[in-house]
Amino acid sequence: MKKILFVTSEVFPLIKTGGLADVSASLPIALNGLNADVRLLIPYYKDLNKTEETYYKSTVHVNKRSVNILETFLPETQVLVWLVDCPALFDYPGNPYVDEQGNDWLNNAERFALFCRVAVELAMNRAYLDWMPDVVHCNDWQSGLVPALLSTEVDRPSTVFTIHNLAYQGLFPKKTHALLNLPRQFWHPNGIEFNGMLSFMKGGLAYADRITTVSPTYAQEIQTAEFGYGLEGLLRHRNKDLVGILNGIDIDHWNPETDVYLNQHYGISTLDKKQLNKTALQAKYGLFIDANVPVFALISRLVEQKGLGLIVDALPEMLKLPLQFVLLGKGEKYFEQQLAFFAKKHPQQVVIILDYDEALAHQFEAAADIFLMPSLFEPCGLNQLYSQRYGTVPIVRKTGGLADTVVDALPATFNDKTATGFVFNGASSGALLEAIKRSIIVYSDSERWKELQLNGMQKNDSWHSSAQRYLELYEAL
Ligand code: ADP
Repeated sequence: MKKILFVTSEVFPLIKTGGLADVSASLPIALNGLNADVRLLIPYYKDLNKTEETYYKSTVHVNKRSVNILETFLPETQVLVWLVDCPALFDYPGNPYVDEQGNDWLNNAERFALFCRVAVELAMNRAYLDWMPDVVHCNDWQSGLVPALLSTEVDRPSTVFTIHNLAYQGLFPKKTHALLNLPRQFWHPNGIEFNGMLSFMKGGLAYADRITTVSPTYAQEIQTAEFGYGLEGLLRHRNKDLVGILNGIDIDHWNPETDVYLNQHYGISTLDKKQLNKTALQAKYGLFIDANVPVFALISRLVEQKGLGLIVDALPEMLKLPLQFVLLGKGEKYFEQQLAFFAKKHPQQVVIILDYDEALAHQFEAAADIFLMPSLFEPCGLNQLYSQRYGTVPIVRKTGGLADTVVDALPATFNDKTATGFVFNGASSGALLEAIKRSIIVYSDSERWKELQLNGMQKNDSWHSSAQRYLELYEAL
């Protein structure tokens, strides 16, 4: 049985800011189902939503600090979770990375360097837990120093580093290198130095035995200057060790037939009931109640990456069309203000909820007809997959995982039953509007629309085959 230490900075439902949390739960659950022994390591943040008992396991000393390791389980699963308990660094409320104003916590380098050092102690079986992994699987910059630090150890486990989003790199001033007491030999253009800065991400990219990312198209894109942020050369250099494995989804948590957040369940054979979710949403938020007008939804972090600029530009034209728009998101103040303006001006047509709310995310998915995801880049994206499962047809930009998971509705793809959404190319509000107009035309033909919904609902986006691929990767190491 393969033993995997899965190192991650967030995991659903303990703490979540985005897709990384979903994957950090659903992938280990799937791997354990395939008879692997996966254990999670995450920081013990103040606002962790723990429901299971927590036990003290041991104390380790790293870089002049002593840190407790606590043990719990991922709620309602058999997945074991070790918590890195260092109150001085992690006992902050709210978001794991940024304060209330959205600024990075000032000591992020110290926080995640300590987290990485503790991971290394566990990986080397020096944390008094009597368990040594075969593979340490690290995720994004917060665990990037683990492969670097492990590279100096003898008889170490293998390392895998997964890029969930190359845009967030954990870059810090040069002096941080000395402050963190990192080995001198790491300070090198082939190491963790990046244009005179310290890059946590490079600790993964330069030192891990294998690199993965979350879709095949993104794996290609990050090797180009447009998506590589200056790391494309290194990624091309490591091309043979780099693979894109598409994320799966938790098909139990995201299931319109059993979803705990829905009042009205529905499925493939009861698709007509989906509409009750829509009219309930229209009533709840004071939208004009009309089962025939398409409701467009967007659920996202409100940042440039997600194409919010295109949305804000397109909205004046969009709102002249026969449609309603509901949005759930939190993020940059500029987008929040722009969006709130439209809601105020068009209360019967636009609803903007500036919040982070898991239940509402499920309810919006169930209620909407169409889901908007005009991302400028998208490593994998999960909401287009959740949407397809909920019979909510996605409109996506042709990039990254969106290009890999949504098939454009065209005569040929209708014929062979592969059409699952609307895909557009240009990163412009005009291209987005064209796709929106196309979707409204197909929506007006209820038979065709139902075909599109069912094609999406019948896709198998579970973790089954992708988890198998991770397992094969671990075995190859
Ligand atoms: P990213 O990781 O870049 O944010 P993904 O599409 O991979 O994007 O994953 C986003 C996840 O976060 C989805 O599960 C989505 O439902 C959730 N999410 C994003 N914003 C919100 C919000 N405001 N409220 C609830 N869930 C949200």
